Amino acid sequence: MSRFLRPAIRAMHGYVPGEQPKRDDVVKLNTNENPYPPSPRALEAMQKLLTTDRLRKYPEPLGDAFREAAGRALGVDPDGILIGNGSDDVLTVLTRAFVPEGGCVASPTPSYLLYRTLAEIQGARFESTPYAPGWRLPDPWPLPAHLTLIANPNSPSGTLVPIADLDRLASQVSGALVVDEAYVDFAETNALELTRRHEHVIVTRTLSKSYSLAGLRFGFAVAHPSLVRELVKVKDSYNCDLLSLAGATAAIEDQEHLRACRAKILATRTRLTAELRGLGYDVLDSHANFVWATRRDRPVQPIFAALKERGVYVRYMDYGVHGQGLRITVGTDAEIDRLLAELRR
Ligand SMILES: *Cc1c(COP(=O)(O)O)cnc(C)c1O
Repeated sequence: MSRFLRPAIRAMHGYVPGEQPKRDDVVKLNTNENPYPPSPRALEAMQKLLTTDRLRKYPEPLGDAFREAAGRALGVDPDGILIGNGSDDVLTVLTRAFVPEGGCVASPTPSYLLYRTLAEIQGARFESTPYAPGWRLPDPWPLPAHLTLIANPNSPSGTLVPIADLDRLASQVSGALVVDEAYVDFAETNALELTRRHEHVIVTRTLSKSYSLAGLRFGFAVAHPSLVRELVKVKDSYNCDLLSLAGATAAIEDQEHLRACRAKILATRTRLTAELRGLGYDVLDSHANFVWATRRDRPVQPIFAALKERGVYVRYMDYGVHGQGLRITVGTDAEIDRLLAELRR
Protein backbone atom coordinates (compact mmCIF):
# COMPACT_ATOMS: atom_id res chain seq x y z
CA MET A 1 0.00 0.00 0.00
CA SER A 2 2.77 2.41 0.95
CA ARG A 3 3.79 2.77 -2.71
CA PHE A 4 0.72 4.96 -3.21
CA LEU A 5 1.86 7.40 -0.56
CA ARG A 6 3.61 10.63 -1.42
CA PRO A 7 7.37 10.07 -1.20
CA ALA A 8 7.58 12.90 1.36
CA ILE A 9 5.35 10.94 3.74
CA ARG A 10 7.21 7.66 3.28
CA ALA A 11 10.53 9.40 3.93
CA MET A 12 9.51 11.10 7.19
CA HIS A 13 9.58 9.74 10.72
CA GLY A 14 6.57 11.53 12.21
CA TYR A 15 6.37 13.54 15.40
CA VAL A 16 6.67 11.62 18.67
CA PRO A 17 4.70 13.33 21.45
CA GLY A 18 5.69 13.04 25.11
CA GLU A 19 4.52 9.89 26.82
CA GLN A 20 1.01 9.84 28.34
CA PRO A 21 1.26 7.07 30.97
CA LYS A 22 -1.87 4.96 31.55
CA ARG A 23 -1.24 4.82 35.31
CA ASP A 24 -2.40 7.90 37.16
CA ASP A 25 -0.17 7.44 40.22
CA VAL A 26 2.81 8.95 38.41
CA VAL A 27 4.16 12.44 38.92
CA LYS A 28 3.79 13.73 35.40
CA LEU A 29 6.28 16.47 34.60
CA ASN A 30 6.99 15.56 30.97
CA THR A 31 4.56 17.46 28.70
CA ASN A 32 4.17 20.88 30.33
CA GLU A 33 0.57 20.47 31.35
CA ASN A 34 -0.65 22.82 34.05
CA PRO A 35 -0.97 21.07 37.44
CA TYR A 36 -3.87 23.30 38.52
CA PRO A 37 -7.48 22.89 37.38
CA PRO A 38 -8.89 25.08 34.61
CA SER A 39 -11.25 27.97 35.30
CA PRO A 40 -14.46 26.70 36.92
CA ARG A 41 -16.28 29.03 34.53
CA ALA A 42 -14.93 27.00 31.59
CA LEU A 43 -16.16 23.73 33.08
CA GLU A 44 -19.52 25.27 33.86
CA ALA A 45 -19.93 26.60 30.31
CA MET A 46 -19.29 23.15 28.87
CA GLN A 47 -21.58 21.38 31.33
CA LYS A 48 -24.35 23.81 30.57
CA LEU A 49 -24.00 23.12 26.87
CA LEU A 50 -24.56 19.41 27.48
CA THR A 51 -28.01 20.11 28.94
CA THR A 52 -29.16 21.68 25.66
CA ASP A 53 -29.62 20.18 22.20
CA ARG A 54 -26.97 22.42 20.70
CA LEU A 55 -24.61 19.56 19.83
CA ARG A 56 -27.07 18.55 17.11
CA LYS A 57 -25.94 21.56 15.10
CA TYR A 58 -22.59 22.66 13.69
CA PRO A 59 -20.53 25.16 15.67
CA GLU A 60 -19.65 28.68 14.50
CA PRO A 61 -17.03 28.12 11.78
CA LEU A 62 -14.88 31.11 12.79
CA GLY A 63 -15.64 30.97 16.52
CA ASP A 64 -17.07 34.49 16.68
CA ALA A 65 -17.92 34.41 20.40
CA PHE A 66 -14.39 33.25 21.21
CA ARG A 67 -12.88 35.88 18.93
CA GLU A 68 -14.84 38.64 20.67
CA ALA A 69 -13.79 37.39 24.12
CA ALA A 70 -10.14 36.91 23.17
CA GLY A 71 -10.10 40.28 21.43
CA ARG A 72 -11.25 41.93 24.66
CA ALA A 73 -8.86 39.93 26.88
CA LEU A 74 -5.78 40.59 24.72
CA GLY A 75 -6.63 43.98 23.28
CA VAL A 76 -6.58 42.79 19.66
CA ASP A 77 -9.00 43.02 16.74
CA PRO A 78 -11.35 39.98 16.85
CA ASP A 79 -11.15 39.78 13.04
CA GLY A 80 -7.42 39.17 13.43
CA ILE A 81 -7.98 35.90 15.33
CA LEU A 82 -7.92 32.45 13.73
CA ILE A 83 -9.15 29.54 15.86
CA GLY A 84 -7.60 26.08 15.88
CA ASN A 85 -7.96 22.59 17.29
CA GLY A 86 -4.92 23.20 19.49
CA SER A 87 -2.18 25.53 18.33
CA ASP A 88 -0.62 22.57 16.48
CA ASP A 89 -3.64 22.78 14.15
CA VAL A 90 -2.97 26.49 13.66
CA LEU A 91 0.69 25.73 12.85
CA THR A 92 -0.50 23.15 10.30
CA VAL A 93 -2.79 25.72 8.66
CA LEU A 94 0.08 28.22 8.52
CA THR A 95 2.46 25.71 6.95
CA ARG A 96 -0.09 24.68 4.34
CA ALA A 97 -0.88 28.32 3.58
CA PHE A 98 2.67 29.65 3.20
CA VAL A 99 4.93 26.76 2.20
CA PRO A 100 4.81 25.24 -1.30
CA GLU A 101 6.02 21.69 -1.93
CA GLY A 102 9.79 21.97 -2.33
CA GLY A 103 9.73 25.19 -0.30
CA CYS A 104 11.64 26.00 2.85
CA VAL A 105 10.79 26.27 6.55
CA ALA A 106 13.38 27.78 8.92
CA SER A 107 13.69 27.59 12.67
CA PRO A 108 16.44 27.92 15.26
CA THR A 109 17.51 24.77 17.09
CA PRO A 110 17.10 23.32 19.69
CA SER A 111 13.39 24.05 19.53
CA TYR A 112 9.94 22.50 19.13
CA LEU A 113 10.39 19.29 17.16
CA LEU A 114 6.98 19.53 15.48
CA TYR A 115 8.25 22.29 13.16
CA ARG A 116 10.40 19.82 11.24
CA THR A 117 7.48 17.39 10.97
CA LEU A 118 5.22 20.09 9.53
CA ALA A 119 7.84 20.93 6.89
CA GLU A 120 8.28 17.25 6.04
CA ILE A 121 4.54 16.64 5.59
CA GLN A 122 4.47 19.59 3.22
CA GLY A 123 7.38 18.16 1.23
CA ALA A 124 9.47 21.20 2.14
CA ARG A 125 13.06 21.55 3.27
CA PHE A 126 13.64 22.26 6.96
CA GLU A 127 16.58 24.50 7.78
CA SER A 128 17.48 24.59 11.44
CA THR A 129 20.22 26.94 12.61
CA PRO A 130 21.71 26.82 16.12
CA TYR A 131 20.77 29.58 18.53
CA ALA A 132 23.58 32.05 19.11
CA PRO A 133 25.31 32.05 22.52
CA GLY A 134 23.00 33.21 25.30
CA TRP A 135 20.05 31.78 23.33
CA ARG A 136 19.89 34.83 21.08
CA LEU A 137 18.58 34.49 17.54
CA PRO A 138 21.05 32.78 15.16
CA ASP A 139 23.50 35.08 13.48
CA PRO A 140 23.90 35.31 10.52
CA TRP A 141 20.24 34.74 9.90
CA PRO A 142 17.63 34.39 8.52
CA LEU A 143 17.89 32.13 5.56
CA PRO A 144 15.51 32.78 2.71
CA ALA A 145 12.46 30.75 3.76
CA HIS A 146 8.76 30.73 3.03
CA LEU A 147 8.07 30.40 6.74
CA THR A 148 10.25 31.13 9.76
CA LEU A 149 9.11 29.69 13.09
CA ILE A 150 10.32 30.87 16.50
CA ALA A 151 9.01 29.50 19.79
CA ASN A 152 9.21 32.39 22.26
CA PRO A 153 9.60 31.45 25.09
CA ASN A 154 11.50 28.59 23.49
CA SER A 155 11.11 24.92 24.28
CA PRO A 156 13.11 23.14 25.66
CA SER A 157 15.29 26.02 26.90
CA GLY A 158 12.57 28.24 28.41
CA THR A 159 14.52 31.24 27.14
CA LEU A 160 12.99 34.40 25.72
CA VAL A 161 14.25 36.39 22.75
CA PRO A 162 13.79 40.17 23.15
CA ILE A 163 10.81 41.52 21.20
CA ALA A 164 13.09 44.13 19.59
CA ASP A 165 15.11 41.26 18.04
CA LEU A 166 11.93 39.71 16.64
CA ASP A 167 10.91 43.11 15.30
CA ARG A 168 14.23 43.39 13.48
CA LEU A 169 13.88 39.83 12.21
CA ALA A 170 10.41 40.68 10.89
CA SER A 171 11.89 43.31 8.61
CA GLN A 172 14.58 40.88 7.38
CA VAL A 173 12.66 37.68 6.62
CA SER A 174 11.63 36.99 3.05
CA GLY A 175 8.50 35.00 4.00
CA ALA A 176 6.05 34.80 6.89
CA LEU A 177 7.27 34.91 10.49
CA VAL A 178 5.47 32.91 13.16
CA VAL A 179 6.10 33.61 16.83
CA ASP A 180 4.83 30.56 18.72
CA GLU A 181 3.77 31.91 22.11
CA ALA A 182 2.56 28.65 23.67
CA TYR A 183 4.29 29.62 26.94
CA VAL A 184 4.05 33.39 26.82
CA ASP A 185 1.66 33.72 29.76
CA PHE A 186 4.58 32.66 31.98
CA ALA A 187 6.83 35.40 30.52
CA GLU A 188 6.95 39.17 30.94
CA THR A 189 6.64 40.29 27.32
CA ASN A 190 4.82 39.18 24.18
CA ALA A 191 4.94 39.88 20.46
CA LEU A 192 1.30 40.85 19.84
CA GLU A 193 2.28 44.40 18.90
CA LEU A 194 4.36 43.00 16.02
CA THR A 195 1.18 41.70 14.36
CA ARG A 196 -0.04 45.29 14.19
CA ARG A 197 3.18 46.59 12.67
CA HIS A 198 3.91 43.75 10.24
CA GLU A 199 1.30 42.11 8.01
CA HIS A 200 3.41 38.96 7.69
CA VAL A 201 3.88 38.29 11.42
CA ILE A 202 1.61 35.72 13.08
CA VAL A 203 1.52 35.03 16.82
CA THR A 204 0.17 31.63 17.91
CA ARG A 205 -1.28 30.88 21.33
CA THR A 206 -2.72 27.83 23.08
CA LEU A 207 -5.06 27.14 25.97
CA SER A 208 -3.17 23.90 26.68
CA LYS A 209 -0.56 25.25 29.05
CA SER A 210 -1.42 28.44 30.95
CA TYR A 211 -5.20 27.80 30.86
CA SER A 212 -4.93 24.13 31.96
CA LEU A 213 -6.93 22.86 28.96
CA ALA A 214 -4.54 20.56 27.08
CA GLY A 215 -7.26 17.92 26.83
CA LEU A 216 -9.74 20.33 25.27
CA ARG A 217 -7.56 21.06 22.20
CA PHE A 218 -7.87 24.76 21.59
CA GLY A 219 -5.39 27.25 20.19
CA PHE A 220 -5.49 30.35 18.05
CA ALA A 221 -3.43 32.74 15.96
CA VAL A 222 -3.34 36.53 16.05
CA ALA A 223 -2.46 38.28 12.80
CA HIS A 224 -3.56 41.07 10.52
CA PRO A 225 -7.31 40.70 9.70
CA SER A 226 -6.58 40.67 5.95
CA LEU A 227 -4.25 37.72 6.47
CA VAL A 228 -6.72 35.86 8.70
CA ARG A 229 -9.33 36.15 5.93
CA GLU A 230 -6.95 34.19 3.66
CA LEU A 231 -5.99 31.63 6.32
CA VAL A 232 -9.66 30.83 6.91
CA LYS A 233 -9.71 29.29 3.42
CA VAL A 234 -7.11 26.72 4.49
CA LYS A 235 -8.53 25.51 7.81
CA ASP A 236 -11.25 22.87 8.11
CA SER A 237 -14.63 24.62 8.17
CA TYR A 238 -15.44 23.31 11.63
CA ASN A 239 -11.99 22.76 13.11
CA CYS A 240 -13.14 23.58 16.65
CA ASP A 241 -16.07 21.77 18.20
CA LEU A 242 -18.89 23.36 20.14
CA LEU A 243 -17.64 22.20 23.55
CA SER A 244 -14.10 23.46 23.06
CA LEU A 245 -15.39 26.82 21.81
CA ALA A 246 -17.63 27.21 24.87
CA GLY A 247 -14.85 26.15 27.26
CA ALA A 248 -12.20 28.28 25.57
CA THR A 249 -14.41 31.37 25.51
CA ALA A 250 -15.20 31.13 29.24
CA ALA A 251 -11.55 30.34 30.04
CA ILE A 252 -10.13 33.35 28.25
CA GLU A 253 -12.73 35.59 29.90
CA ASP A 254 -11.44 34.46 33.30
CA GLN A 255 -8.16 36.36 33.33
CA GLU A 256 -8.24 36.44 37.13
CA HIS A 257 -7.96 32.64 37.25
CA LEU A 258 -5.04 32.78 34.81
CA ARG A 259 -3.20 35.33 36.97
CA ALA A 260 -3.64 33.28 40.14
CA CYS A 261 -2.36 30.06 38.48
CA ARG A 262 0.52 31.87 36.89
CA ALA A 263 1.64 33.33 40.22
CA LYS A 264 1.77 29.88 41.84
CA ILE A 265 3.71 28.38 38.94
CA LEU A 266 6.25 31.21 38.87
CA ALA A 267 6.90 30.83 42.60
CA THR A 268 7.44 27.08 42.23
CA ARG A 269 9.64 27.66 39.17
CA THR A 270 11.96 29.90 41.18
CA ARG A 271 12.25 27.30 43.93
CA LEU A 272 12.75 24.39 41.49
CA THR A 273 15.49 26.28 39.64
CA ALA A 274 17.41 27.04 42.84
CA GLU A 275 17.08 23.48 44.19
CA LEU A 276 18.23 21.89 40.93
CA ARG A 277 21.25 24.20 40.80
CA GLY A 278 22.02 23.15 44.37
CA LEU A 279 22.04 19.53 43.17
CA GLY A 280 24.64 20.30 40.51
CA TYR A 281 22.42 20.90 37.49
CA ASP A 282 22.91 23.75 35.07
CA VAL A 283 19.47 25.35 34.79
CA LEU A 284 18.66 28.24 32.49
CA ASP A 285 16.46 31.05 33.82
CA SER A 286 13.05 30.01 32.51
CA HIS A 287 10.26 32.20 31.15
CA ALA A 288 7.94 29.20 30.76
CA ASN A 289 6.25 26.57 32.95
CA PHE A 290 9.22 24.19 32.69
CA VAL A 291 12.94 24.29 33.22
CA TRP A 292 15.78 22.90 31.11
CA ALA A 293 18.30 21.08 33.28
CA THR A 294 21.63 19.78 32.00
CA ARG A 295 24.77 18.35 33.62
CA ARG A 296 28.38 18.72 32.69
CA ASP A 297 29.66 15.80 34.81
CA ARG A 298 27.51 12.96 33.47
CA PRO A 299 24.84 12.01 30.94
CA VAL A 300 21.28 12.71 32.08
CA GLN A 301 19.57 9.88 30.20
CA PRO A 302 20.16 7.42 33.08
CA ILE A 303 18.70 9.98 35.51
CA PHE A 304 15.61 10.25 33.32
CA ALA A 305 15.29 6.45 33.26
CA ALA A 306 15.75 6.11 37.03
CA LEU A 307 13.14 8.79 37.71
CA LYS A 308 10.69 7.03 35.41
CA GLU A 309 11.31 3.76 37.22
CA ARG A 310 10.27 5.53 40.42
CA GLY A 311 7.13 7.00 38.87
CA VAL A 312 8.41 10.50 38.14
CA TYR A 313 8.13 11.36 34.44
CA VAL A 314 10.24 14.16 33.00
CA ARG A 315 11.19 14.66 29.34
CA TYR A 316 14.62 13.59 28.18
CA MET A 317 15.60 15.42 25.03
CA ASP A 318 18.59 14.72 22.84
CA TYR A 319 19.52 17.37 20.29
CA GLY A 320 22.73 15.62 19.26
CA VAL A 321 25.62 18.07 19.02
CA HIS A 322 23.39 20.78 20.51
CA GLY A 323 23.16 18.88 23.77
CA GLN A 324 20.97 16.66 25.89
CA GLY A 325 18.92 17.61 28.89
CA LEU A 326 15.90 17.10 31.05
CA ARG A 327 12.90 19.30 30.42
CA ILE A 328 10.98 19.37 33.67
CA THR A 329 7.46 20.78 33.94
CA VAL A 330 6.74 23.02 36.92
CA GLY A 331 4.17 20.94 38.80
CA THR A 332 2.56 21.56 42.16
CA ASP A 333 4.85 22.12 45.14
CA ALA A 334 4.14 18.56 46.32
CA GLU A 335 5.08 17.12 42.91
CA ILE A 336 8.30 19.12 42.83
CA ASP A 337 9.14 17.97 46.37
CA ARG A 338 8.71 14.37 45.22
CA LEU A 339 10.95 14.99 42.17
CA LEU A 340 13.65 16.60 44.30
CA ALA A 341 13.51 13.78 46.86
CA GLU A 342 14.01 11.17 44.09
CA LEU A 343 16.86 13.20 42.56
CA ARG A 344 18.60 13.38 45.93
CA ARG A 345 18.33 9.60 46.29
C1 LIG B 1 2.62 22.69 23.66
C2 LIG B 1 3.14 23.47 22.52
C3 LIG B 1 2.35 23.81 21.42
C4 LIG B 1 1.05 23.14 21.10
O1 LIG B 1 0.05 23.25 21.88
P1 LIG B 1 -1.38 22.68 21.54
O2 LIG B 1 -1.67 21.75 22.66
O3 LIG B 1 -1.38 22.02 20.20
O4 LIG B 1 -2.22 23.90 21.55
C5 LIG B 1 2.86 24.63 20.44
N1 LIG B 1 4.12 25.08 20.51
C6 LIG B 1 4.93 24.76 21.52
C7 LIG B 1 6.31 25.30 21.54
C8 LIG B 1 4.47 23.92 22.55
O5 LIG B 1 5.30 23.55 23.51
